[in-house]
Amino acid sequence: MLLHERYPAVREGLPHLSLSDGPTPVRRLDGLSADGRAEVWVKDDGAFGSGPWGGNKVRKLEWLLPEARRRGRTILTFGGLGTNWGLATALYGRDHGVRTALALVDQPVDEHVSAQLERLRASGATLHFTRTKRRTVLALPWLIARHRPYLVPAGGSSPLGMLGYVDASLELAAQVAAGELPEPSHAVVAIGSSGSAAGLALGLRLAGLGTRVVGVPVTRDLRADPASVARLAGRAAKLLRSRGARLEAPPPTAADVTILDGWIGAGYGHPTPEGEAAAAAARERDALALDPVYTAKAVAALRAANAAGELGRGTVLYVHTDGPRY
Ligand SMILES: *Cc1c(COP(=O)(O)O)cnc(C)c1O
Repeated sequence: MLLHERYPAVREGLPHLSLSDGPTPVRRLDGLSADGRAEVWVKDDGAFGSGPWGGNKVRKLEWLLPEARRRGRTILTFGGLGTNWGLATALYGRDHGVRTALALVDQPVDEHVSAQLERLRASGATLHFTRTKRRTVLALPWLIARHRPYLVPAGGSSPLGMLGYVDASLELAAQVAAGELPEPSHAVVAIGSSGSAAGLALGLRLAGLGTRVVGVPVTRDLRADPASVARLAGRAAKLLRSRGARLEAPPPTAADVTILDGWIGAGYGHPTPEGEAAAAAARERDALALDPVYTAKAVAALRAANAAGELGRGTVLYVHTDGPRY
């Protein structure tokens, strides 16, 4: 875990719980590279997490679980019926002495979502089916009275949770320095609650890399534009500074972030033809499994932008965020 090494002053104020071993692997994706101008590499954060569930949410939990434990509180958080975030919180929380309560809103139920819901039911988390965003807001006072919780936003994208992707950026910089991959000109990532993209945008700058974050929104229910991503990154920077870190660079601005719009299709959780084509190509040619909700849409956007030459002629990094283990 590199963040504490780089900023020893935050060790006490920002405790960390290790949930994974070693850096996640990077490799060149030959199939995806053949389709575009820039060569494409992946950082496989699906491999992050030593427990029963992996992926980007586990990086956030490394910071959020110790805080919940320190406060002695149940985590109350939010998601759709198939929420990866809610399941990761419930499973890793259970292993580390933190209870989880989830307020769940409806999303299209396919086989994947109903299986996910079964896992949520089996996880030991308390489930509240609040159905819509509006009803979740209305239920909030009752939920707070009931659980006296440590409240964490959807996707774990609080300033504290975002430190997971600041740390991931430092990990990537060490891999570049060790010659494991070329320095990427762009890093492409799916965007739900924006915390992963914002953490990367901050962390890549602090690490001294020139890599530009390219986010691909997969939902219209949460704001995702360059300004909102930069604002989140600024809040994470402020948290680090407030705990004593001396940051090497100012936080990113909206001009440092690119958003590729137009890949959501009918809405969150609805598969798209471009996503399905991207998933088939990635599976057959690069042995990489993409999920229809997040990563298939991100790779669909990456393929199109790269074919159009919008990602330059150097190296593009795809940050793979999905890590189901079943
Ligand atoms: C939650 C999630 C994302 C989005 O991450 P945010 O930090 O919420 O933007 C991307 N991919 C997968 C697989 C996820 O589960």
